[in-house]
Amino acid sequence: MDIKKNIESIRNDFPILSTSVNGNKLVYLDNAATSQTPNCVIDSISDYYKNLNSNIHRGVHFLSQKATEIYEETRFKFKKHLNANSTKEIIFTSGTTHSINLVANGFNNSLKAGDEIIVSSLEHHSNIVPWQMLCEKTGATMKVIPMNQEGELNLNAYEDMLSKKTKIVFVNHVSNALGTVNPIKFIIDKAHSFSAKVLIDGAQAIPHFKVDVNDLNADFYVFSAHKFCGPTGVGILYAKQSILEDFPPYQGGGEMIDEVTFEKTTYAELPNKFEPGTPNIAGVIASGIALDYINGIGLDNIKKYEDELLSYATQKLKTIKNLKIYGTSQNKTSVISFNIGDIHAYDIGSIIDNLGIAVRTGHHCAQPIMDYYKIPGTIRVSFCFYNNFDEIDKLVNALNRAVKMLS
Ligand code: PLP
Repeated sequence: MDIKKNIESIRNDFPILSTSVNGNKLVYLDNAATSQTPNCVIDSISDYYKNLNSNIHRGVHFLSQKATEIYEETRFKFKKHLNANSTKEIIFTSGTTHSINLVANGFNNSLKAGDEIIVSSLEHHSNIVPWQMLCEKTGATMKVIPMNQEGELNLNAYEDMLSKKTKIVFVNHVSNALGTVNPIKFIIDKAHSFSAKVLIDGAQAIPHFKVDVNDLNADFYVFSAHKFCGPTGVGILYAKQSILEDFPPYQGGGEMIDEVTFEKTTYAELPNKFEPGTPNIAGVIASGIALDYINGIGLDNIKKYEDELLSYATQKLKTIKNLKIYGTSQNKTSVISFNIGDIHAYDIGSIIDNLGIAVRTGHHCAQPIMDYYKIPGTIRVSFCFYNNFDEIDKLVNALNRAVKMLS
């Protein structure tokens, strides 16, 4: 699909885009925080509760069987999209954060003092804190791959820190704060040459381009549905089957068991072993509809269009005096983080919010990146395929007005 030609009909799929804020039409540029929801996803949630609501995997009755069927078909959709080997490798969670905690928990018994784990300096807090907690529990130590001014990882330093002691490497595919696309194939291959496992946080990649976990040979790949037009409260964890078989369960409860007695419990087969309790059934099914929706537009088309938005917005923003962009890698997604002179990001964010423009200000849950640049935070604009060029012009005009008011 040619997005430029069809932009109006795409925008009509998103009812929230016609919202007004203080009499101005909403310009939503905070897509890296969460993307908006198209009618087909909203309808899927409503349809579930109108026509399908029941518990899955446990009822003999019509509704339960139908809901189970659609829930499991959704698992198959994600397996196919990611090119995983089996639906046993797809676990539904409540989000990227939950998935990372689940994986970190899996290393509780195997990691020990003297072992090392490696993180990148470009991570979201949710790909730092669970691993710090793991280090506290096990005595393992964490090393950090440094970054440069462009917001890229220092791969020589990474290679130098790998050793037989390295057990896990965890890196995001795309930085949420800067948009940098990390060379994860290289990172994975190097880690594997030391038999270390690799977790890729794909929260900011899945909405923007096609990912093939088989080709990447990632051990774990995690992301959230709400970043690609799905609902909040659904995460997808891809993990190699052999690793999940060896992992202990993360949480105990119904559905994840084979047999329970007061003396002993045996666990269910994959993927149920990692999905205790009643899952977010409506949300999972709607996430599958969101996946169909973005695939209907085509991820290659999305990438091409968003690259154009990125390049137009970068040029336009650079016309603003004293505007400094953080994250200037050649390989980045449609995210621009910046400050203007020494004006506080929050002040600019508040003024342009009054004009109906939604951006994110602050540290973007990536404080180590802000520390590196010695700044408290940035203004971050992040585009989705339903944004248009007119919205970028409105952003730049609003920023100019804000600067005038604050200087
Ligand atoms: N990782 C990255 C790169 C993110 O951008 C985010 C959310 O902004 C997360 C992890 C956490 O995702 P969630 O809040 O959906 O668990």
